[in-house]
Amino acid sequence: MVNTDMSTLKGKTALVTGSTSGIGLGMAIALAKQGANIMMNGFGDKDGPIAQIKACGVEVDYHGADMSKPAEIEDLIKQTEKRFGAIDILVNNAGIQYTANIEDFPTDKWDAIIAINLSSAFHTTHHALPGMQKRNWGRIINIASVHGLVASAQKSAYVAAKHGIIGLTKVTALENARTGITCNAICPGWVLTPLVQKQVDARAEREHISNDVAKTALVSEKQPSGEFVSPEQLAALAVFLCGPDASEVRGVAWNMDGGWAAQ
Ligand code: NAD
Repeated sequence: MVNTDMSTLKGKTALVTGSTSGIGLGMAIALAKQGANIMMNGFGDKDGPIAQIKACGVEVDYHGADMSKPAEIEDLIKQTEKRFGAIDILVNNAGIQYTANIEDFPTDKWDAIIAINLSSAFHTTHHALPGMQKRNWGRIINIASVHGLVASAQKSAYVAAKHGIIGLTKVTALENARTGITCNAICPGWVLTPLVQKQVDARAEREHISNDVAKTALVSEKQPSGEFVSPEQLAALAVFLCGPDASEVRGVAWNMDGGWAAQ
């Protein structure tokens, strides 16, 4: 159904990396509902997600760049600017996970997590900033994690990448502080997406428990509320960060984590 009520981002273009699933798809839908045209990216089924964005009544396109490859990222930025004329909103969301103790952590997994979860945000920002600076307006939202603020065992690469992206967020915000470009990080706690479902499945198998029991055990261990955060809640924060009331929110790492980091 075409949404005609909301148009606060009408005429803007948002590039959301890793938007075929989970949090990225939630962000893309919410930004589209505000009227922004969307460039999607990510692996897996894309037809369903594209149809969901189209239903919001905006223009949508898709680019299959592998976010671990700088040359493909450069092409993603170029093609988005060519297709829509500009990138006004950049959501650096694509990410993967792998868990193991450091001594067992495979080097290729470390390299992939650093490339996709951290370096890709540098490359997109590096290429998208000149256009934003020319227009003196931009919103860069980095999807970090509560693991950008605190650590968990067995997540060395993920925690390092997420702490790193918060550092990148602050530098991007400072370098553009006298402009209409803001950069902030969102730090979710547990969100029940495919990325987390894999960790639920692994736990259920390891501990010989049902999927539901594993889910409850996983979320309760770290998240005092005992509830998952939803992609829609995170997307509402992203929409706020894109709006005029957030123009002085700069370089912030904003957690939405059911109380996780308050402990
Ligand atoms: P997800 O697996 O549902 O989605 C990840 C997206 O990234 C998918 O669209 C996938 O195709 C894409 N992707 C993966 N590798 C890619 C690559 N090389 N190139 C291009 N796209 C690629 O996961 P999610 O939970 O929605 O995670 C999204 C972001 O949120 C990640 O950065 C993740 O670290 C972060 N995050 C998730 C949680 C959580 O609990 N789910 C918590 C905190 C932070």
